[in-house]
Amino acid sequence: MYNPKSLKAEEFISNDEVLESVEYAEKNKNNVELIDNILEKARERKGLSHREAAVLLSCEIEEKNNEIYALAEQIKKDFYGNRIVMFAPLYLSNYCVNGCVYCPYHLKNKHIPRKKLTQEEIKKEVIALQDMGHKRLAIEAGEDPVNNPIEYILESIKTIYSIKHKNGAIRRVNVNIAATTVENYRKLRDAGIGTYILFQETYHKETYEKLHPTGPKHDYAYHTEAMDRAMQGGIDDVGLGVLFGLEMYKYEFSAILMHAEHLEAVYGVGPHTISVPRIKRADDIDPDEFENGISDDIFAKIVACLRIAVPYTGMIISTRESQKCRERVLHLGVSQISGGSRTSVGGYVEPEPEDEKSEQFDVSDKRTLDEIVNWLMKMDYIPSFCTACYREGRTGDRFMSLCKSQQILNCCHPNALMTLKEYIEDYASEDTKKVGDELIKKEIENIPSQKVKDIVLERLEKIKNGERDFRF
Ligand code: SF4
Ligand code: SF4
Repeated sequence: MYNPKSLKAEEFISNDEVLESVEYAEKNKNNVELIDNILEKARERKGLSHREAAVLLSCEIEEKNNEIYALAEQIKKDFYGNRIVMFAPLYLSNYCVNGCVYCPYHLKNKHIPRKKLTQEEIKKEVIALQDMGHKRLAIEAGEDPVNNPIEYILESIKTIYSIKHKNGAIRRVNVNIAATTVENYRKLRDAGIGTYILFQETYHKETYEKLHPTGPKHDYAYHTEAMDRAMQGGIDDVGLGVLFGLEMYKYEFSAILMHAEHLEAVYGVGPHTISVPRIKRADDIDPDEFENGISDDIFAKIVACLRIAVPYTGMIISTRESQKCRERVLHLGVSQISGGSRTSVGGYVEPEPEDEKSEQFDVSDKRTLDEIVNWLMKMDYIPSFCTACYREGRTGDRFMSLCKSQQILNCCHPNALMTLKEYIEDYASEDTKKVGDELIKKEIENIPSQKVKDIVLERLEKIKNGERDFRF
């Protein structure tokens, strides 16, 4: 039985409710009156239920679809302005005991080189990331209690935060590791992590079990209830995601929104972020073997409908996607992107030889961080290296109230400009510097409060003279 308040996976992601939502959406995909009502509700910017959002996703009327895209764009502007938060993944270890059939790190892959970074190697990777200009990382590790125990992850987080190279610092470490116990989540919280990210891969239980034939990840309920344990362990920023291509996208779309509704219903705060990866080619993996791949058009529609359904939730897209595809979805709702990423263990310090590749997936967008920052600014986006909320303790519902109180232009906007200025002073190429300084000059005018504007001008001057780390 469907119950968003239940703590049991099969009740808050009830298969029947997902199927009924998909069917309801299918039946109403040309129901103009209903679609108009849903759009009317969405314009209040308080989000939509999974059923309502499913109808918009299925909608086949061109005129209404244009309204959906326009509304997603407007909501994106109202909540996130033109800021795009930057981050990079850091792969610690690709040892893994699971059998996920879509990932080259699965246990049966005997030819991929297995690597695990020592603390000394982590230090070198972090220095390389700091020298690119990154301030926010997402650490990744396979599930392996012997090679990657929680103590290794905790030690690595400590190492990452401790490195201060030149003007560099990693100010927020998000963590993407396997589902674990409440006790371990508490340890991660105490280590000062930002968001705990865990992709569901697919919400469809039967498919899930087939795609995870062996290893601890096979347990659907344990995996699906991980965010509950994370919240019980005191982590209040959690990141959801599905791997599009494994199951029917309409199924995943309704289910991920039901997951968000569950977290809101039980803990009073929805997910901090939603990631929308698509399956990609990798060692041992051929995406064409998966029948549910989605086109760029459907991908764009998913992003737009998620933006409308959960306006307060950040949306993440990685370098799995090409420049062209990223360009298309940025204005529809994506608020965070990775840049200059390496998806192999140890890949930032030394590029791997062709015959020793340990990447998790092929990177489509291979540009450097500087090229991405430059590209974003030329499209009038502000690349932001802001980590202020986490460091000011504005997590969970306190973060949400910042979003809801419309203080974003007096808070996120100046923080974005100040962190961009740091980037420009320390890491940018000549052209990026020129474009960036002009953009900052123009964007200062968009800060509503004169008082905040004056403080920002003063701080920008201080950054130019070598001071760092200002925030609101
Ligand atoms: S997806 Fe994660 S758990 Fe599965 S094989 Fe890859 S690293 Fe291991
Ligand atoms: S102030 Fe908070 S919400 Fe705004 S960009 Fe910075 S970290 Fe994100």
